[in-house]
Amino acid sequence: MKTRCDKCNEMFNPEVQKSDPKAGVYEIYFVCPHCDSRYHCYNENDQSLSIQDSINTVKLELTKVPKIKDFVKKFNKRQELITKLKNLTDDKRKILEKIN
Ligand SMILES: [Zn+2]
Repeated sequence: MKTRCDKCNEMFNPEVQKSDPKAGVYEIYFVCPHCDSRYHCYNENDQSLSIQDSINTVKLELTKVPKIKDFVKKFNKRQELITKLKNLTDDKRKILEKIN
C-alpha cells in the first residue's frame, strides 16, 4: 500500500522495520526512501513479539480446521483456538498500551 511522505511529498511503499532494542523496547518504523525521513509506527517488546508468534501460530492452526466439514468433531477445537487467539490478542494489546 503506497503512502505519501509528509516531508518530501513523494509516494512510496512503506517497508516496516524493527529497531535494535532500547531498554527491551523495539521501535517499529519505516523510512521514506526518497528523503530518509523516519516514521514511528509503534513499539514492541520481547513479550509482545512472542505473543505475536503465538497469534500467528494459532491463526495458521485455525486455517487448518475445517469450517463446515466434520463440524461436530472440529467445533470444539475451533472454538478453543478462537478463544486462545482472543486472549493472546488481548494480552498483546495490554502490553502495547504499556510501552506505547
Ligand atoms: Zn520523503
